[in-house]
Amino acid sequence: MTDPSRADVADHPVTRDAALARLNAFVPLAGAAYAKGRNADHGTGRHDSVSRLSAALRRRSVTEIDVLTPVLAQHGHDAAAFVNEVFWRTYFKGWLEARPDTWHAMLRALAALDSQLLRDDALAKRHAAALRGQTGIDCFDHWMGELDQTGYLHNWARMQFASIWIFTLGLPWELGARAMFVRLVDADPASNTLSWRWVAGLHTRGKAYLADAALIAHMTGGRFAPVGLATRAAIPDEPLPPAAIPPRDVIEPAPDAPTLLWITPDDCALETEPALASLIVRAVVIVDANGDPAGHGARADRAALDDALARAAGHWNVAAFRTPDAGAIAALAQEIGAAQVVTGRVAVGPGLDALDRARTALDAAGIGLAEHLRAWDAAAWPHATRGYYALRKTIPNLLGVAGLSVLPPPGEPLP
Ligand SMILES: Cc1cc2nc3c(=O)[nH]c(=O)nc-3n(C[C@H](O)[C@H](O)[C@H](O)COP(=O)(O)OP(=O)(O)OC[C@H]3O[C@@H](n4cnc5c(N)ncnc54)[C@H](O)[C@@H]3O)c2cc1C
Repeated sequence: MTDPSRADVADHPVTRDAALARLNAFVPLAGAAYAKGRNADHGTGRHDSVSRLSAALRRRSVTEIDVLTPVLAQHGHDAAAFVNEVFWRTYFKGWLEARPDTWHAMLRALAALDSQLLRDDALAKRHAAALRGQTGIDCFDHWMGELDQTGYLHNWARMQFASIWIFTLGLPWELGARAMFVRLVDADPASNTLSWRWVAGLHTRGKAYLADAALIAHMTGGRFAPVGLATRAAIPDEPLPPAAIPPRDVIEPAPDAPTLLWITPDDCALETEPALASLIVRAVVIVDANGDPAGHGARADRAALDDALARAAGHWNVAAFRTPDAGAIAALAQEIGAAQVVTGRVAVGPGLDALDRARTALDAAGIGLAEHLRAWDAAAWPHATRGYYALRKTIPNLLGVAGLSVLPPPGEPLP
């Protein structure tokens, strides 16, 4: 077992080589064993029946195709459950791209809740007890500590944690989503926000997830015996999300323009993308705030970006730069004589703020900002605007489009 204080990027690798090594070790377990055992939570540092690749997939240090190629080659149809989970990630990303206001509405709700916490003592006390892991609910308090220490919770534990937060502790789902997001090593705006909404009964409307004490005892091998869990789910009263809109327009890279390649935490393996192979890259850059990163997610970002910068600089045989702020990217582009800055498609979430800061200065300098949308997302996102089933039906086709020849049938539906 890894020392818990080092367990984030050690147990959840984010450099490409380390993630590929973890993938290699996991592939034999990704078939029937995964389908049978993926929901069992064996405890801190013992999450070996799942891939622990989410921190790498979130940053695309490894891509969905990297991961599914060996899994399908070894397990074929028996990999259906694992394939399904990887597509849940794709689905949530596509869904949030189609309804970006769901993210902004959460940020607005959090601003209002922060004011409310200053006025409402009872709410503030319940919230503080949850954050300290001092609610008296054994499993919840343990999971809060595990999350703090390691930056990770098993998927099934995340579902129980979110359910207890919302329905037993009576806390707003947005505060829970933020508490988890700022601690996770794999923090992802789409998967996190929409999973919390799914548990709350706001994603699949009216269908909430209610944690059950006996099931928790069973699935954790008797480690926990929680008492006092809610027996009914009071679904928050929220208007329906807006209708889906087309994904934000992006400018695709020009193949013949001198380029500054900007690597962000949304795509850390641009050098593996065939569509970018012929780019005329003059230099590569990452945005890297000075000092020690605080928190598991920031540590993972730093490790993934450092690795991606070195790989891309080696691949194109060019200089590597770091800048403390995205606003300075335009000056660097001018300095190296770039006519465009190219990055991977930046998804809804905090990454878009950095993109906008860069865009303002680039526009002023007359330098283009192009974002490369991977074929995987371009093919899947149009099917991610409704419920998961609509996308699930298309998985065999999507795998075919990605050049993955073994087509598993749809697996089980729950995230
Ligand atoms: C309340 C809640 C919050 C969550 N927040 C995040 C988050 O911020 N970032 C994140 O990557 N995942 C999130 N998830 C999804 C899931 O818990 C993690 O992706 C998974 O636990 C990661 O462990 P793993 O890599 O071993 O997964 P595996 O079981 O090995 O699955 C393989 C890959 O499939 C994807 N995946 C698996 N389950 C899901 C799922 N339910 N939804 C979306 N993608 C999935 C991940 O990319 C994962 O790496 C959340 C789930 C819940 C219930």
